[in-house]
Amino acid sequence: MSLPIVHHPDYRVTLRPGHGFPMSKYAYLREVLISRGLLPEVGGYFAPAPASLTQVATVHDADYVSRVASNTRTAEETRRIGLPDTPAVSRRAFLATAGTLLAARLSIEHGLACNMAGGSHHAGPESGSGYCVFNDVAVAAAILLNEGRAERILVVDLDVHQGDGTAQIFADDPRVFTLSLHAEKNFPARKVASDLDYPLPDNLKDAAYMEVLEDALQQASAVPADIIFYNAGVDPHVDDRLGRLALTSGGLRARDRRVLEWAAAQNTPCTCVLGGGYDRDPYRLAERHAILFEEAAKVFEHIPAGLVDTAPT
Ligand SMILES: [Zn+2]
Repeated sequence: MSLPIVHHPDYRVTLRPGHGFPMSKYAYLREVLISRGLLPEVGGYFAPAPASLTQVATVHDADYVSRVASNTRTAEETRRIGLPDTPAVSRRAFLATAGTLLAARLSIEHGLACNMAGGSHHAGPESGSGYCVFNDVAVAAAILLNEGRAERILVVDLDVHQGDGTAQIFADDPRVFTLSLHAEKNFPARKVASDLDYPLPDNLKDAAYMEVLEDALQQASAVPADIIFYNAGVDPHVDDRLGRLALTSGGLRARDRRVLEWAAAQNTPCTCVLGGGYDRDPYRLAERHAILFEEAAKVFEHIPAGLVDTAPT
C-alpha cells in the first residue's frame, strides 16, 4: 500500500479576494500531489466525516464549540481567529479536526499517515486564534488517550510560530509532551511554555536550524511515546510572508526527512499535519507543502508492515 493520505475537498473554502489566509493552497496541494504521482487523478485519499461536537469538546470549551457549529461566534472570537464566521469555515474546522484523528488512526495501523490540513496549534481551551478554530492535534491526542489507544504522546511542532494553544491545553497533562521550535520574535507575542521550547533567532538558515533540530530530537528520544504528531508547517521558509528563519526548500526537505526517519527509527507511529505556510503564490506554497508528502512516501516504503502498532489496545 502507499502512504495513507487524508483529504477532503471542503478543506478549501472561498474567502474574500485579498484575504490574508492562503486558502487555495489546499486545493493546489492535491494538484501537486497528483502531478508527482503521490495521489491518483481520482480519489486515492481517506476522507473524514466531520468531527462531532462532543469529540471537539474533549479539549475545547463546549459553549465555544457550539458557537462555532451554529455560527454564533462572538465578534472577539472572530477577530482573534481571523477567518469569517460562515458555515463553510465551521464545517472545515470540524472536517480538519476529524482528518487529523483519522490520520492518527491510520498511522497507528500503518506507521505513518499525513493529513492535508490541520496543525491549528494556536487554538486553546477557550477559543481559537491566529487562523486556528479548533486544535486538531490536541483533539486527536486527547481522544486517543481517552480510548486507551495511547498512553503517552509526543507533539513535534516545527511550524515557525510557537504552539501556544497545544501547550496550554496539555500544560497539566504529563501524558502529552509538547516540543516547539519557532522564531522567537514571531506571533504569538505571549508564548505559553511547552514542555520543551526552542525560541530561535531571525535568519537562522538551514545548517544552524538542523543543529537545533538534532538537539531537540535527541531530547525527544528520551520521551516515551506511543504516537508522534508532527506539525510540518512550511512557514520557516525564506520566502514565507510570516517566516523569519530563512530556511530554503532544501532545508525544509532535510528537516522533514530527519523527523520522519527519526520517528521510524523510534518505531513509533507518526501523524503528520500540514501546519502554516504563507506565500503570495498559492501554487508555489502548495509545492512547498508537498515536500512533506514526498519525504513521507519515501520513509513509508521502508516501514515494515505490522511492526509499528505498539500502542496498547
Ligand atoms: Zn505558523
